[in-house]
Amino acid sequence: MVKKAKHALIILGAGPAGLTAALYAARYKLDFITIGRVAGGYMMEAHEVENFPGTGKISGPELSQKIFSQLKDLEHEPVRDDIQAIKKENGTIHLYGATEEYKTTHLILALGTERKQLNIPGEQEFLGKGVSYCATCDGFFFKEKTVAVIGGGDSALTAALYLGDVADKVYLIARKDELAGDPSWQEKIRTHKNIETVLGTNVKEICGNEKVEKIILDNGPGEIAVDGVFIEIGLTPSSALLDNLGVSRDEKNYIIVDSRQKTSIPGVWAAGDATTASNKLKQIVTACSEGAVAATDIFQEIKKQK
Ligand code: NDP
Repeated sequence: MVKKAKHALIILGAGPAGLTAALYAARYKLDFITIGRVAGGYMMEAHEVENFPGTGKISGPELSQKIFSQLKDLEHEPVRDDIQAIKKENGTIHLYGATEEYKTTHLILALGTERKQLNIPGEQEFLGKGVSYCATCDGFFFKEKTVAVIGGGDSALTAALYLGDVADKVYLIARKDELAGDPSWQEKIRTHKNIETVLGTNVKEICGNEKVEKIILDNGPGEIAVDGVFIEIGLTPSSALLDNLGVSRDEKNYIIVDSRQKTSIPGVWAAGDATTASNKLKQIVTACSEGAVAATDIFQEIKKQK
């Protein structure tokens, strides 16, 4: 393992929280690096963002690109690596990547969330053969076909709207009797000619031979013939890396932070969708805000130490 120089700050995660923390850290002229596995995080999968102030309607990748170019102007570029473990020893935090070891005294965890799974028969078997968790990434393969989107929140609504313009027919299947997402998306769903909403219904099984052919429901039509199934039933904090670090988390695994984004471990801050901050609202704007607060608190702490 190649040992790298120790930095005053490492930002782990290159989604909106991590990138905004980087923007602030660069302007504060801190000695820092940003490490990310997927540049842009889940923001890259948002085909349309309509509620980020100042940009108007913009795609997630476009918004990411804007932040990256702002960082480039500040001569900062995130490092791409997949951190496998984090350990704190005698005040130093060690991060172990694929082949490199990074060290720091201040860490911002901006790890984001992972997609929830339905855990029904056929979900794993047909993954990549009709089952997908990302409409923006895989929607194109279902041009002029029939697909189902499962879920009733913003992820499902935005996926259905995106797919409604690509596929011939989209069934939006939610288990409650009404949709839960943003009323503006709901209105668009109601008036979209390719989208049919099926409420109060669970998908019990995904069936097919070589690829997805139909879904079995516990209500309504009983089964529907589809070519694809998009599972959009929510997000859960990414936590695999946190166990040996011992960061306190709530009963749903969210990282507990205070109003300065500090975690229970001295030297470790957290920002973005995986924290208890911002009333757990998972929006790009709140992730950015938490990243800014964390970087600023670290800047002030480092200044005091000098
Ligand atoms: P949410 O938790 O908001 O919604 C999850 C949906 O999936 C609910 O309708 C829920 O139903 C349903 N669900 C959960 N488990 C199951 C299951 N086992 N079977 C069937 N249905 C299930 O998650 P989202 O991913 O939609 O959104 C997460 C966050 O990301 C939100 O804060 C959202 O606002 C944000 N987001 C914002 C976007 C934007 O602004 N552009 C786009 C996408 C997401 P039930 O209500 O019955 O539990």
